Amino acid sequence: MTRKIYTLNDFLKEKFNEKIYKVSLDGGFTCPNRDGKLSNGGCIFCSENGSGDFTSGKLKSIHTQIDEQIELVSNKYKGNKYIAYFQNFTNTYADVDYLRKTYEEALSHKNILGLAIATRPDCLEDDTLELLDELNKKTFLWIELGLQTINDEVAKYFNRAYETKIYEEATKKLNNLRIKFVTHIIIGLPKEEKEDYLKTAIFSQNCGTWGIKLHLMYVVKNTPLEKLYQSGNLKVHSKEEYVEKVINVLENISPEIIIHRLTGDGNRKTLIAPLWSIKKIGVLNSIHKELKRRNTYQGKLYKK
Ligand code: SF4
Repeated sequence: MTRKIYTLNDFLKEKFNEKIYKVSLDGGFTCPNRDGKLSNGGCIFCSENGSGDFTSGKLKSIHTQIDEQIELVSNKYKGNKYIAYFQNFTNTYADVDYLRKTYEEALSHKNILGLAIATRPDCLEDDTLELLDELNKKTFLWIELGLQTINDEVAKYFNRAYETKIYEEATKKLNNLRIKFVTHIIIGLPKEEKEDYLKTAIFSQNCGTWGIKLHLMYVVKNTPLEKLYQSGNLKVHSKEEYVEKVINVLENISPEIIIHRLTGDGNRKTLIAPLWSIKKIGVLNSIHKELKRRNTYQGKLYKK
């Protein structure tokens, strides 16, 4: 049977012969788009949750965070191997000694077999790349880049604070070092043109992305996007629109690209819209149902 979607779970099972979970960690980082270096406001959809933790001195040690997360998933996962995922804010935005200490602390935990590091493409300094190169040679590593769109007008509007060519340059450096990277893409950004999301996916593929993470544009409390939404100047996607676009991406990209996410995890307490997105299982079921109805799969329309 043709595989409909090449998911991260599939990849990890093939590679490690068992199911592998990720543990999401807070390395105490901030973001140049939030701390004043590039701007104070950040991307207009970015929630402020967690930013206080970085400065309060209450940040838990990496090992404690890993142990707590393992405990949380212990009733549904009986394995003992995990990927340490540095997720909050920009996880390469610090001096290289701090980065080394933080990543190595995670890798020294007995249950951790690899690292995933989410960052901005403008936060990959030469010494950071040297460190990543070193880590890539001794552990299983991937980097995640928050591209969201290749439409620079849209990116300017949501205040990404870097141009798409910076992403392209960063991917060249990562490719040269054979460091795998995943590209984040948001579907439904304000002011996006009809096929921006698809062009973004194909562009990231042409830049050598190893994986793609698809997110729905959702509105979170206390963000500039919320103000835009409440003023009636932002239309959010219906579930049907989103599902259609996800499938368009899947059909047009290579079957070799690993799909790390098909929709985001909106927080029930802070999500304003679209409310249908809270039922993640429902969204995933709709995607699979539509794939079946259209008799299609990842890569069906892919042209080399
Ligand atoms: S780059 Fe990421 S962390 Fe920084 S403001 Fe944008 S969404 Fe938030």
